[in-house]
Amino acid sequence: MQALVLEEKGVLSLREIDLPLAVGPGDVKIAIHTVGVCGSDVHYYTHGAIGPFVLREPMVLGHEAAGTVVEVGTEVKDLKVGDRVCMEPGIPNMSSRATKLGLYNVDPDVRFWATPPIHGVLAPYAVHPAAFTYKLPDSVSFAEGAMVEPFAIGMQAAARARIKPGDLAAVIGCGPIGIMVALAALAGGCARVFISDLSAEKLAIAGQYPGIVPVNITERPFAEVLAEETGGWGADVVFEASGSPRAFDGLFDLVRPGGAVVLVGLPVHKVEFDVAGAISKEVRIETVFRYANIFDRALELIASGKVDLKPLITGTFDFDRSIEAFERAAKGDPSDVKLQIRVGEGA
Ligand SMILES: [Zn+2]
Repeated sequence: MQALVLEEKGVLSLREIDLPLAVGPGDVKIAIHTVGVCGSDVHYYTHGAIGPFVLREPMVLGHEAAGTVVEVGTEVKDLKVGDRVCMEPGIPNMSSRATKLGLYNVDPDVRFWATPPIHGVLAPYAVHPAAFTYKLPDSVSFAEGAMVEPFAIGMQAAARARIKPGDLAAVIGCGPIGIMVALAALAGGCARVFISDLSAEKLAIAGQYPGIVPVNITERPFAEVLAEETGGWGADVVFEASGSPRAFDGLFDLVRPGGAVVLVGLPVHKVEFDVAGAISKEVRIETVFRYANIFDRALELIASGKVDLKPLITGTFDFDRSIEAFERAAKGDPSDVKLQIRVGEGA
């Protein structure tokens, strides 16, 4: 079938490729409808690798997907043909120690769509375990269903932060993930979320949401704004969502004594940080790697209307214009948050 294939760094083609479509007893086959373009897909396109994951042979891109079940395996009970669904793109080894602990996101054996050498789902069909396939509530569109994956990262970050009602949060970095983190922090009980960036355009998008306060750090240091807003005390939770090494300079000036710093952004190289600054405030440091047991909760929040991700979808391309979508994403226009590719027919 036709798929969007990353042949090698910088070379995409929309072409025929053989993908395994055998439906096992616990699997479902899904007609793919919408797939979001993720920063990681774009990074494989532009750089050919992310950390230890190096593209060595052609790979189908795409891991943020929603579609319709067209076939179910013999042992599948919770899904039926015609169900609209979204999929969690990582398949752990169900008998691994990590999975048994409920930490399947850090299972070393996890097979994750569009992470070399595993193919993604920018193709008309995919086969996936029913256990990692989630029915979309009627009020949730395919486009929103394909936003669950990036939003799940924000929710994992909010969960790791152990937010208390009324907390004040700070998010460093107003990219797609920073905005997801801010929305999840609000949904998780934060009263206000301050978000920082250098780009006025990105901040304007986040600032549309009540409760999110944009801070342009080309005008004022983030620490100064937070100190002013908290009487010098600091934010209860600080989320680092930029991956920039500069974010680690003065990171612990943002957080209150006994507060939490949650590391979400992935710096390309090792970074230095101020251990004494962290210790002197007894800061709790948490890390986030993808998500576990989050998709159903994300769908609940979206269906309830508490979280509206629709304003973040800034462009939709038909499947035959997939390459154009990636070229636009690679340009990194600050007014683009999420581009999506519509593989299937209908709304
Ligand atoms: Zn993604």
